[in-house]
Amino acid sequence: MTDSSTTRPAETVIGAGTRPAETVIGAGTRPAETVMGAGTRPAETVMGAGTRPAVAVIGAGAAGLAAARALAGACAVTVFDKARGPGGRLAHRRREGFAFDFGAPFFTARDPRFLAELARLRAAGIVTPWACRFAEIEAAAITHRRDWGETPAHYVPVGRMSRLTAHWAAGLDVRQSCRIAALHRMPAGWALESEAGERFGPFAFVIVAVPAPQAAALLPAASPLHATAASARMQGAFSLMLGLAAPLDPGFDAALVRDGALSWISLCAARPGHEGGPGLVAISRNAWADAHLEDDPATIRAAMLDALAACLGQPLAPVHLDLHRWRYANAPAVAARPDLIDAEGGLALCGDWTSQGKVEAAYLSGLDAAAAVLARLAAG
Ligand SMILES: Cc1cc2nc3c(=O)[nH]c(=O)nc-3n(C[C@H](O)[C@H](O)[C@H](O)COP(=O)(O)OP(=O)(O)OC[C@H]3O[C@@H](n4cnc5c(N)ncnc54)[C@H](O)[C@@H]3O)c2cc1C
Repeated sequence: MTDSSTTRPAETVIGAGTRPAETVIGAGTRPAETVMGAGTRPAETVMGAGTRPAVAVIGAGAAGLAAARALAGACAVTVFDKARGPGGRLAHRRREGFAFDFGAPFFTARDPRFLAELARLRAAGIVTPWACRFAEIEAAAITHRRDWGETPAHYVPVGRMSRLTAHWAAGLDVRQSCRIAALHRMPAGWALESEAGERFGPFAFVIVAVPAPQAAALLPAASPLHATAASARMQGAFSLMLGLAAPLDPGFDAALVRDGALSWISLCAARPGHEGGPGLVAISRNAWADAHLEDDPATIRAAMLDALAACLGQPLAPVHLDLHRWRYANAPAVAARPDLIDAEGGLALCGDWTSQGKVEAAYLSGLDAAAAVLARLAAG
């Protein structure tokens, strides 16, 4: 089982003499320069950002990428993410000839700003409404059926979720496989320290775009934003991925499950532009995941497989089986929060949990954070 949980790593304390190479992305007018360290201290690279203020975004999910894109014209933005690719919970995985979108299976749009972005994405052929046979299942029986179309639209990227996030990340300075472990306040701004001991900065502003518990672990206790993040609630989920020897037709392409361990089932081949073998993704109910978060993965796999077989009305013999645990999958809807920017401290928060556990909410929270940071920087 792979795990998206992100317990905070031990903070790296860099002692004199053992200090590793340090990358500093500067906010001022200093050009790139290399300073050879004296004694045991290794070389330190200082990268100047011209006259634009330097802003760090921690997290390359929908929220962080939206914030970074909105800031990119006015600021020197660097995005940091602990994963190998951008997207966060807009997750895609290829294994043994199978391909799974195993995070958010689709998204909806209501706000004019997100609708405008979707219009651009549709025009570029990146996203499309998902025309699929949708069903609702209760007590292992189909209770409703309808065909999804344009209204209301349920959007999916064409091919794979990572197509969308790669598009959003294009042109940005995104440092992948870089888990930020600590923020340090310095006279010139914020310095970020990675788990590997690299240091980045100074940054005039840091936007923390990660799930609430992970944000609370990063934010200094003295910042008012710490309490905001620490008080937010998030829920877990498991994604079960099945590769099949032959296509399966249960009479629907995607199903909302109303009871039991599962909340969602979708057929991989029904997704527009699917690029792998026949397969299924089943997503657990959040409350069920929270009750079983630390259970043995084999037990979770067996329970979800049984529930899936019951919903489909047939036993399953997958040739590939994988499970992913999302410790922070979803966030309940909350009233608009006024406490997402610490203007004096140079910190801002965004992410779905600041509004609602949805891609649209995450994206909009990123735009809002960027607007608040720009307003603060303009105020001087
Ligand atoms: C199983 C599942 C089903 C879902 N279904 C739907 C759905 O049907 N419709 C819908 O709209 N939404 C759905 N969602 C929710 C949706 O995916 C999220 O609301 C949205 O993707 C959140 O985006 P985000 O940018 O706020 O956070 P994330 O996508 O979680 O991005 C946070 C990023 O921060 C990075 N990170 C964390 N800590 C650090 C650190 N210390 N240093 C560096 N990087 C760090 C992570 O690697 C991650 O990339 C679902 C989610 C899941 C998991």
